[in-house]
Amino acid sequence: MKSRSETMASIKNTTFDVCVIGGGATGAGCALDAELRGLRTVLLDAADFVSATSSASTKLVHGGVRYLQQSVAECDFGQYRVVRRALRERKLMLANAPFLARPLELLVPCFSRRDAYYFRAGLKLYDWISGQGMLSPSRFLSVRESTVRLPMLNTAGLVGTVAYTDGQFDDARYGIALLKTFAENGGTALNYARVAGFAKTKDGKLSKAHVEDQLSQQCFTVRAKTFVNATGPFADGVRKLADPGIHPRLRLSKGIHILLPLEAAFRLDAMLIPKTDDGRVIFAIPWQGRLLVGTTDDEATLDDELAVKQEEVEYLLRHLNRYWKRPFSIDQVVSGMAGLRPLVSPGDARNIKKLIRDHEVEVNQDSGLISVLGGKWTTYRAMAEDAVNVVQQCLKIAVSPCKTQHFQLTGAEGYGPTFWHTLVPKFHTSPDTAQHLSEKFGTHAVEVLELTRVDKQLATPIVAGAPGIHAEIVYSIRYEMAASIEDVLARRIGLQWFSWNSAIAAAPLVGSYLAREHGWSAEQTQQAVRDYTFKLQRTMCLAGLKPKHALAG
Ligand SMILES: Cc1cc2nc3c(=O)[nH]c(=O)nc-3n(C[C@H](O)[C@H](O)[C@H](O)COP(=O)(O)OP(=O)(O)OC[C@H]3O[C@@H](n4cnc5c(N)ncnc54)[C@H](O)[C@@H]3O)c2cc1C
Repeated sequence: MKSRSETMASIKNTTFDVCVIGGGATGAGCALDAELRGLRTVLLDAADFVSATSSASTKLVHGGVRYLQQSVAECDFGQYRVVRRALRERKLMLANAPFLARPLELLVPCFSRRDAYYFRAGLKLYDWISGQGMLSPSRFLSVRESTVRLPMLNTAGLVGTVAYTDGQFDDARYGIALLKTFAENGGTALNYARVAGFAKTKDGKLSKAHVEDQLSQQCFTVRAKTFVNATGPFADGVRKLADPGIHPRLRLSKGIHILLPLEAAFRLDAMLIPKTDDGRVIFAIPWQGRLLVGTTDDEATLDDELAVKQEEVEYLLRHLNRYWKRPFSIDQVVSGMAGLRPLVSPGDARNIKKLIRDHEVEVNQDSGLISVLGGKWTTYRAMAEDAVNVVQQCLKIAVSPCKTQHFQLTGAEGYGPTFWHTLVPKFHTSPDTAQHLSEKFGTHAVEVLELTRVDKQLATPIVAGAPGIHAEIVYSIRYEMAASIEDVLARRIGLQWFSWNSAIAAAPLVGSYLAREHGWSAEQTQQAVRDYTFKLQRTMCLAGLKPKHALAG
């Protein structure tokens, strides 16, 4: 990706065909699709790329067994359509970035014969709807087979498990890979650039976005022929900027996840808890060396503080522990994340848990703003395809074929499951580091490791005994537009999800590399470290945990 100053310069001198507002899954997907169809495209995000909902998901590439269950129970064809479309997209999403996404088998525990028949039939239907996109057929596992796969599963009354396969991915890195692919193909992407208003032509159509640079506090304008609002839960706000008279379309639902030590759980298998007290499902999934547990589903607004709360942690632990031989306690939680689902409301007062995870592309007839509302990560590509078709119609040009179906993301070229083996002798690196880097950066792991040839210090582990190395920090600052400590530790290298305490410990190191690369003063660096540490410590306190170090600030 270009540097911030190069990006700013190219923005100032261009009238774009499309300005995409929002750099989450939806915006990144729209920007890549538009650029590949030959439209001059710019993408702006108010904060860091992928910093909102798109890095707080359950990390499943799925149709959603819960939504299938709802569609059957309530004869809801809309839900069924969403599940079917997502299942078609699942295979494409896995194939286009195999270093970031892979199949994952999940086990559904059954405690009665009736449950076993019910889940076997339901998951066979899930297989059938997948059609050509099926990853692996579902099957029944005996109690013995189930406990080999899930040694910690509570076996009292267990009659077996039904195993089915969905996809799993690294959501934050997938978003970054989409944006890097967009930039490599000629697109312009800028983070920390908040759209604060619009200018219009005489006939009321949007012609410019007024943008506030959140880092320099300067304002600038972006000229474009069309504007795509891909701001997820914030979409009603941008719709209002373009047309103050509009009615809100979104309802928001908060969902949290917690991460627990994997050693204390089980080895490689994932579990779906099929029934919670409030009629939901909960996943317990091995992810990046941790057990990811979630999620919740509670109506929320943008005014509510978006944090993992102690009562939500207790809710997840309570349900997980019913299935576990050795219960987890709150002090074993190592990190967590909270996000807001942007759900399109049909206007009535339906229960938020039952709102369809479908998307809609809306064109405001007065201003011309194109808003992409709702959807899910798994359908980001299909949503983008629909949105860019509308962009071309608004530009009054022929709708050209979408190219993203089989377009591999940068880092996927030449990648295979044994790619990391080649890095070990070439860079004299450990197998763990080679594997870790190739699963984050794909074949760009070579460029990360090249940095260690120039500066040997960059081969040092970030956390003693863990596979991440200093070179990742430098690479993400130089080539992936990371501008803050959190950008590096959360979205780029993921240490913040692995452990809040380790992230706090690594903050001064990341601060020192940011200072070196961006020319920060010593005072600025210390302040950035203090702010980050305080933010994480507060997050831990809200989740009911005691930070390891004394509270900063
Ligand atoms: C708890 C939870 C679990 C989920 N699990 C899954 C799952 O397992 N699988 C799945 O397929 N889906 C899942 N989803 C759904 C999926 O994560 C979301 O549908 C998707 O990430 C939404 O992406 P988005 O780009 O629309 O929104 P976001 O990721 O929220 O991005 C919107 C972006 O717009 C930017 N923005 C806002 N205002 C402005 C402005 N004025 N100017 C410029 N930029 C602006 C924000 O900074 C933000 O980066 C889950 C969602 C939640 C909440």
